[in-house]
Amino acid sequence: KYDDREYITNLDLVKNNIKEKNKFSFKSDFGKVALFAGSRGFTGAAYISTQSAVKCGSGLTTLVCEKYVQDILSTKLCEAMTLDIQNKEKVKKLISECDAIGFGCGMGDTEDTYTKLKYVLENSKCPVVIDADGLNCLKNKKDLLEKHPNRIIITPHLGEMARLTGYSISHIRDNKVDVAKEFAQKYKTIVLLKGYETVITDGNYTYINPTGNSSMANGGMGDTLLGIITSFAGQGMTNLMSAVCGAYIHGYIGENLSKDLYTVNASDVIAQIPFVMKEFV
Ligand code: AMP
Ligand code: MG
Repeated sequence: KYDDREYITNLDLVKNNIKEKNKFSFKSDFGKVALFAGSRGFTGAAYISTQSAVKCGSGLTTLVCEKYVQDILSTKLCEAMTLDIQNKEKVKKLISECDAIGFGCGMGDTEDTYTKLKYVLENSKCPVVIDADGLNCLKNKKDLLEKHPNRIIITPHLGEMARLTGYSISHIRDNKVDVAKEFAQKYKTIVLLKGYETVITDGNYTYINPTGNSSMANGGMGDTLLGIITSFAGQGMTNLMSAVCGAYIHGYIGENLSKDLYTVNASDVIAQIPFVMKEFV
């Protein structure tokens, strides 16, 4: 079924990509990341994506969000920093220094989200992982993708991919590999198309993720994945491997927890990330 550039992700590949800590390691060795996320009614998305990067081992993690989101989360996020997105000078400095940026969870499908994404892409050089409303706001405007080749990872579910491509959900579900590859080639991005057997591709090499199950089908789960992938990219994995290993670990944790839990929630996955990283390193 799979040609010689299509693989099912295996555990050895994931283990080979996780960075070992040595006695001289310093927090700067584990990456500085920023998460742009959250809006009124969607503070959870900001919490989950940020805390996932923290638990995945990022050296320094900052949530960049509107002040009302910052005020709600700054006591809940005790290991991450928070920054008011309207503080342009500090945001510009932060993103110019970041090793990876995650963008879009719970931000709202608005013109304002598009403007923020444009600013982030134009004022940073690092990999940018885009999910949720960061993708929804691109549905009629692909210019941002065209202007920033070879640095973006997109993580749509079927509905978000339908909005991005104009294809129907059923067409995408039946042609997941082809649709993901076509998009990745056209825009020179990494595409991670979520769901049962998540597909990850750079348009050339394609991986099918064997982990995870439908106990993970609930709100917040994709925000965890974005935090993990952003953390890996910031720790120095390639963009393709960040997405491949992120999907594997995320699904591995969810599937394991589902042996004991009827439904697995994002906070359950977050708590397990450092244990599984230790198991795999
Ligand atoms: P989102 O739709 O953005 O909340 O993301 C949901 C996450 O849960 C993605 O990482 C999916 O791959 C995963 N997920 C949801 N349903 C399933 C399923 N039936 N099998 C495997 N993974 C799933
Ligand atoms: Mg989502």
